[in-house]
Amino acid sequence: MMLDTLKTLLAAYGPTGRENAVAETVKTLLSGKADSFETDVLGNLIVTKKGQSGGKTIMFSAHMDHIGLTVADIEKEGYLRVTNVGGLSADGAKGRHVVFGNGVSGVVVCQPPKGETPGMQHLFVDIGVESKEEALKMVQLGDVCVFAPDFFLLGEHRAASPAMDDRSACALLCELVMQAENPKNTIVAVFSTQEEVGTRGATVAAYRVAPDLGVGIDVTAWGDTPEVKLPAVELGKGAAVKFMDRSMIATPAVRDALIAAAEKANAPYQREVLPFGGTDGAAIQHSRGGVPAGTLSIPCRYVHSACEVIDLRDLDSGLAILKTFVNLDF
Ligand SMILES: [Zn+2]
Repeated sequence: MMLDTLKTLLAAYGPTGRENAVAETVKTLLSGKADSFETDVLGNLIVTKKGQSGGKTIMFSAHMDHIGLTVADIEKEGYLRVTNVGGLSADGAKGRHVVFGNGVSGVVVCQPPKGETPGMQHLFVDIGVESKEEALKMVQLGDVCVFAPDFFLLGEHRAASPAMDDRSACALLCELVMQAENPKNTIVAVFSTQEEVGTRGATVAAYRVAPDLGVGIDVTAWGDTPEVKLPAVELGKGAAVKFMDRSMIATPAVRDALIAAAEKANAPYQREVLPFGGTDGAAIQHSRGGVPAGTLSIPCRYVHSACEVIDLRDLDSGLAILKTFVNLDF
């Protein structure tokens, strides 16, 4: 069930570059539901579910990694100086509970000198020690912490968590693999790495998979809070079919096939024009000699904060669209 799959994936530790615990979680969830599992050099998990003869190979990509802070120095009092891995701002991180892979907790503090604009250089993580020696027994330079896992429902249909970007899409892709029975086209579900630093995992995976077409699955931004009006995407109105962002202009045939699938499945959907950002869909599209590709987006408020909010009905819409999409004729 989607909600259980989502909660399981949200709980896994997986900052950018250290996604293996998420990959193991996906493997456990999909055990017995796919034809093959491969892990490549970049750590991408590539799951194949064979389609019927004559079908095409469709690569889907949802990234496993989650933005974090890495230890860049340790002060003599034991405070950790950090720098961001992926698009995490000092403002978004301050005052938050973070955890390392070994379970060590910390509190992020931002203390700029008087008159200075707060920046990453003013952040430190307090892990409750009194000296550098004590700190070194718990963490090392290069270790990465992420917002502590959390999950709670908001109202009837919505849910908040630090890692909705992009575990919500990983959940959607897992459910597609679980639920697609004897699909017409072969599903290659890539659970990708290092998206948050520039779609690095998907770039390599797309080259290896060499699909006939591709679809990135990622969260997108929102336009339905008081001061934010673009993109013109609302929570609860269905998954969004991307027309463009700063990394890609969706291939018309793939974009229109996603829309056709939504209409055939009677699933609500939105059109998305995002004036910033990029996703794995672009990495697929720009691989080898070029691959027809698009992106299906999950509307998400407060992206890259510790409280990313999605509407669970948009996941249902996304799943209905993808289940139909894999059975279209291409
Ligand atoms: Zn993302």
